[in-house]
Amino acid sequence: MNQKVRVRFAPSPTGGLHLGGVRTVLFNYLFAKQQGGDFIVRIEDTDQGRFVAGAEEYIFNTLKWCGLEPDESPLHGGPYAPYRQSERKANYRQYAEQLVKDGFAYYAFDTPEELETKRKEVANFQYNQFTRGNMNNSLTLSADEVKEKLVSTPYVIRIKMLEDETVVFTDMIRGEVSFNTSQVDDKVLLKADGMPTYHLAVVVDDYLMKISHAFRGEEWLPSAPVHILLWKYLGWGNDMPQWAHLPLILKPDGNGKLSKRDGDRLGFPVFAMDWTDPKTNETTTGFKERGFLPEAFVNLLAMLGWNDGTDREIFTLAELVEKFSMERVHKGGAKFDYEKAKWYNHEWIKELGVGSLELGVRSEFEKKGIVISDDSLFEKVIGLVKDRCTLLPDFVAQGSFFFQSPATIEVDAIKPKWDDKKNMFFTELIRAYELSSVWEMHDLEREFKELAAANQLKPGELMLPFRIMLVGGKFGPGVFDIAALIGKEETVKRIQNTLQLLQA
Ligand code: GLU
Repeated sequence: MNQKVRVRFAPSPTGGLHLGGVRTVLFNYLFAKQQGGDFIVRIEDTDQGRFVAGAEEYIFNTLKWCGLEPDESPLHGGPYAPYRQSERKANYRQYAEQLVKDGFAYYAFDTPEELETKRKEVANFQYNQFTRGNMNNSLTLSADEVKEKLVSTPYVIRIKMLEDETVVFTDMIRGEVSFNTSQVDDKVLLKADGMPTYHLAVVVDDYLMKISHAFRGEEWLPSAPVHILLWKYLGWGNDMPQWAHLPLILKPDGNGKLSKRDGDRLGFPVFAMDWTDPKTNETTTGFKERGFLPEAFVNLLAMLGWNDGTDREIFTLAELVEKFSMERVHKGGAKFDYEKAKWYNHEWIKELGVGSLELGVRSEFEKKGIVISDDSLFEKVIGLVKDRCTLLPDFVAQGSFFFQSPATIEVDAIKPKWDDKKNMFFTELIRAYELSSVWEMHDLEREFKELAAANQLKPGELMLPFRIMLVGGKFGPGVFDIAALIGKEETVKRIQNTLQLLQA
């Protein structure tokens, strides 16, 4: 096979994008970009019953946020358009009919009621090589009956699974994988409404769109034999896309696949971005809205099932493209650890410059109704507090007092060690600061210490009350940095306010 690398992410627009889905996108993307190939997004929306309004837009917004832009998609266009399977409906029937003609598939006329009855009668009923002989299909009915039914009754086309054969293929991650066809049911290929099922559509479109490699979640592994056989039956030779079935992302305790419910239960996001279910109006929080940076999100996803062979953990997207290797993708599932996910975000907040953080931080302040009017102060504040922030909302907790007086002052934390001498000191400090001609961090610190010495007080005992006066509690960056940034008037006002509270 010497064709151009073309990979595809093929989501069904059924709801929010699970982090496992974004990791699938990422691995597709990394592989394609490393090989100078194309990354295609194809929307698999043939199951109209599962279609959810807004889900496609959400998928593209997520990809945009992550910086994983497709080369071809319904939005980006491309030489193999349309990229929405519902718009390709007319393509599929011919292949299903060809399979029937060649004896690899058959018409099935069983009504939904008949199938329902069967399911009730037989536990775990499967339409397969063992049961198809007792059903209503073109294998059991006479040629005339079939002819008549094709015009009078709704019907589906099902694959005729081989009896007891072994299908083998080489997965890029798992190596050789084999299936016995007796385990696989006769999947529907074309539905009564003329829409293909996933199985037919995925094979036909991978072929027509010249897909060379396909990364998808491990949950699709049981479908692989159906796809391999369809490819073979359609006579498309050996150029089947090479499959890579990615290991699952597991619950934190390693017991099974991480689900949205685990996130709700354990209090962390599982979707990439906020998703509001249009039917229930219920919103599920995403990593983005929780305050994750796209750089961190992409980085942490890459590390769920891959490493570069060293203990390095922080990579930009460009570095991931350069370093990615299939050999280093793990076969086993990767446990999701939310604390570790936050660690990545913290590292990325430290790593990025103020300019790259500004937009996200500003929106967090806006959400809390804090208006930033002084951009240069804003930039300084980001620089000052960023090393203390793990998620973007932390910037508000760590920095709101730069823009507004603290809503509450923890006077109870000052009171136990408060006395007249300290009261005197701060009263004098107000006067000294009011007289300061320069308002600069080092001068403020020097004046503070000189005044402490003159009052025979240790600066150490005064710093905590001073901090609480300025920020409201026992946190924040250097206290003289804070005073310098909030300015003379505000510093004096906050000391005065607290002195009053202490007297009350
Ligand atoms: N439409 C499938 C999904 O929703 C895609 C599976 C595949 O990539 O083959 O996940």
